[in-house]
Amino acid sequence: MNRSLPTSQHPPEFPSPQRARRPESIRGSRSLLRDLNVTLVMELVRRAGAISRAELARQSQLSAPTVSTIAEKLLTRGILIEHSTAPSSGGRPPVLLSIDPKAGYVVGIKLRGDGLTTVVCDLDTQIVETQELHLPLVRDPTAAIHAIEVEVRRAIRNAHLPRSKVLGVGIGLSGIIDTDRGACNFSHLLQWRDVEIAEPIRRHLGMPIWVENDVNTLAVAEKWSGDANEARDFVVLTVGRGIGLGIVIDRALYRGANGAAGEFGHMIIEPSGPKCECGRFGCLEAIVGEDALRRKVEESQGRSLSRGELLSLVAAGDVSTLEIVRNAGRKLGLALANMITLLNPEMLIICGEGTDFGPDYLDPVVSSVREQTFADVGRTLEIKIQRWGDEAWAVGAAALVLRESFSSPKFEESNNAIWHRSPT
Ligand SMILES: [Zn+2]
Repeated sequence: MNRSLPTSQHPPEFPSPQRARRPESIRGSRSLLRDLNVTLVMELVRRAGAISRAELARQSQLSAPTVSTIAEKLLTRGILIEHSTAPSSGGRPPVLLSIDPKAGYVVGIKLRGDGLTTVVCDLDTQIVETQELHLPLVRDPTAAIHAIEVEVRRAIRNAHLPRSKVLGVGIGLSGIIDTDRGACNFSHLLQWRDVEIAEPIRRHLGMPIWVENDVNTLAVAEKWSGDANEARDFVVLTVGRGIGLGIVIDRALYRGANGAAGEFGHMIIEPSGPKCECGRFGCLEAIVGEDALRRKVEESQGRSLSRGELLSLVAAGDVSTLEIVRNAGRKLGLALANMITLLNPEMLIICGEGTDFGPDYLDPVVSSVREQTFADVGRTLEIKIQRWGDEAWAVGAAALVLRESFSSPKFEESNNAIWHRSPT
């Protein structure tokens, strides 16, 4: 989140006992947060960063006394804080309301085949604790569920937080997810089929659990506090070993009839191409994903390569390696151009560990999108490239909890909206 809030100051006409009266439990405020007018006020405060009661009344179209009553309740519970702007010339400075980022915390977990990354974030999605656990999770959902319970407890303890301050846990994993049940219908990467995730963890930890496809968690995070905060239609592309797509249409995640939308990496682009991990031949991922690149470079170099060695060859400008990498970038760009011709998003966000290949991989992607999309759609498209590590996936999962806890249904544009409140 890129907001910076003014320092907390309290003018004399608004004595500020809120820190002293902060509650023991933010989770105890859940019933309050289910009030539609309260969530509307929270959403407006969150979007503004800092906002006066008068401006809240204007934007929410609620009456001034209603806004004041809601603000008092949220101040009493320590969720909002008051502060003043810098003293202006003449008159008293307006009192602004902000969300106290330390009023509550959320846990985010990214599951991989070889372990999990866990983060604890405050309400501004700032990380206060990170931990890694390495253990094999392929074909072993029982181990994964047990590990999640242990890691959540450990992370909360290491962050020195009372459990009552933790709003819930978000979990992201690769696969087709039933978000209502909190279950994984199928994950090729983990080799899981029909695994209940949320319910057993919720029983043990006694806190709300949300589960979502990992690429979709990134789309949620981008919408919640990232580059796509204001966007209505956007796509998030992840590049790495796998190639995934999170699709947001009309501010809603597009999951498809079976929750399987966005399997962009498994579009077949060369039917006689190499075998893909999914068992078919010539999928995009099997041609331009990181493993495919490494295999091609290993063939050209006549030796096996670590990931570091592969990246070093790119950085050193090895001619045959660059040709392989740029060619892959062009193919990925063409596939993206076709997708963008179909969906016409306003923004494309490219992220994932594959961005480590740098401009030699990404520049051909961008130029192909610009040149090969229908009409002027590709030229006006906003393209953002984000380079980050494994933690970002877990922060995305943490954003699920923030969205579910604080978003206002008033901002929903459809029943499947990205702000949809799931029945947890
Ligand atoms: Zn495939």
